[in-house]
Amino acid sequence: MLRGGIIGAGFFAANHLNGWRMVDGAEIAALCDTDTGRLSTMGDQFGITRRYTDAAQMLAEEELDFVDIITTAPSHRPLVELAASSGKHIICQKPFAENLTDARAMVAAAQTAGKTLMVHENFRWQSPVRTAINEIRAGMIGTPFFCRASFRSGYDVFSGQPYLAEGERFIIEDLGIHVLDIVRAVMGDVATVAAHTNRINPKIRGEDVATILLSHDSGMSSVVDCSYATQRSPETFPQTLLEVDGDRGSLYLKAGYRLEIHTNGEVETRDVSPELLSWAERPWHNIQESVLSIQQHFCDCLRDGRQPETSGTDNLKTLTLVEAAYLSASEARTVETNHL
Ligand code: NAD
Repeated sequence: MLRGGIIGAGFFAANHLNGWRMVDGAEIAALCDTDTGRLSTMGDQFGITRRYTDAAQMLAEEELDFVDIITTAPSHRPLVELAASSGKHIICQKPFAENLTDARAMVAAAQTAGKTLMVHENFRWQSPVRTAINEIRAGMIGTPFFCRASFRSGYDVFSGQPYLAEGERFIIEDLGIHVLDIVRAVMGDVATVAAHTNRINPKIRGEDVATILLSHDSGMSSVVDCSYATQRSPETFPQTLLEVDGDRGSLYLKAGYRLEIHTNGEVETRDVSPELLSWAERPWHNIQESVLSIQQHFCDCLRDGRQPETSGTDNLKTLTLVEAAYLSASEARTVETNHL
């Protein structure tokens, strides 16, 4: 049984703690948060008695195999470096880092320590998205030549995560990062990025609308469009909708978790709704189920001695797309990813 310690007991941590209870092969032994109120609330809720306000002390005193970092981005680099130098495997929430320099240093720290580093980049692990990815990888629509990945919503994310309204950056860094990662999983690596952003909601600092054109190493193209300023009914939060054209068919992940595969003039339609886990609640159940899936993937990889699909090294490419999109939007030009 792998023993883990959690750092960060805020808004999203309960999903991790619930997920860990269901993971085969791991348990959470200790919890850390600098905020004593949050530490005791979460510790009581999940019956974790080993509690710390200092991550270094937790790592020194506990016999842990891995740490699960669920803090916001500014603390990720020091915590990843601390965990690596303490000889622990690491899962770190997205956004992995505030910039590529930090992210590269974090990957290097884990490599030097010989430890596994996985980014909790969970949208490609949502079961509806995963089904779509698997069908495409299995060749159901042939070779994909176009992908549109769309996340448009008017859901109030700011009440649960007030920091999202305060940052200079918002939708690309927080949400677009997931959608860009899905497109990488479907279409492969990206050569150039052209992005346009707007802020529609006057009460926030960052951009809440982004439209991004990607050209892939394969020569094919994708469009990622994200908005938190879209009023629609029914509300689709937190669904990513997909439209993928291949040379032998097309695939659609439509609102309401409806998967359609169009081949040879026929349409196969499937309900790919995520499971409503006992601790989950709509509409978050899609994301909550993916937390469990990515945690299980991490444990399976440690057991089998292989790299997670969303390893730190892999995530550098997703983070590069985020940086490229902001640079493109601010300078109104197309950005080549290999220049970042
Ligand atoms: P939050 O601010 O509610 O909670 C973070 C907690 O970390 C706070 O309680 C804070 O006191 C604690 N903390 C910060 N620095 C610390 C340190 N050095 N040592 C110990 N504790 C420390 O944030 P949140 O909304 O829970 O988000 C956490 C992360 O999860 C963010 O990076 C966010 O982007 C990510 N997130 C991911 C998803 C997803 O689907 N993957 C969804 C929501 C949030």
